[in-house]
Amino acid sequence: MIRVYQQETLDIFPLAQDVIKDSFSLMAQDQGHITLQKSSYNPLRQQYNAAVILDDIASKNDKDIEYKLCLVNVDIYAQNMNFIFGLANPIRKTAIVSTYRLNGDNTRERISKEIVHEIGHLFGLVHCANNKCIMHFSNTVKDTDEKEQTFCQDCRSKIE
Ligand SMILES: [Zn+2]
Ligand SMILES: [Zn+2]
Repeated sequence: MIRVYQQETLDIFPLAQDVIKDSFSLMAQDQGHITLQKSSYNPLRQQYNAAVILDDIASKNDKDIEYKLCLVNVDIYAQNMNFIFGLANPIRKTAIVSTYRLNGDNTRERISKEIVHEIGHLFGLVHCANNKCIMHFSNTVKDTDEKEQTFCQDCRSKIE
């Protein structure tokens, strides 16, 4: 089971639920809306620190026991990256996906792919060299559009 939290400005639990069921045969539980903590905002970068949001979500109910997914629609960053689409911490069993840079023609498809990618990390997968594989690293939305919404055989075999 994966607990799904979303920013109050989003309403995409049904999408997350479908993706989680289709790709992992897991149930999703709607944990409702969350408000981002002020401390996650970096005024110099005018972006939100994904690690801070992730930490906050990871500390919520059933700390480190249940898998958790947080969906936000603000611009997020991590360490030396200009921006990221998502972040996952397998030890804390928590992932975050931002829809901010996924808007456009294939928004729902892109969000679905990024959700599968980050949950893949939660299950221990690392980045894959196969650019069609969902675990391939996306630097741009073009990369996201080019990959399939599925794992290559190699990655799939590691999570089954
Ligand atoms: Zn990744
Ligand atoms: Zn792969």
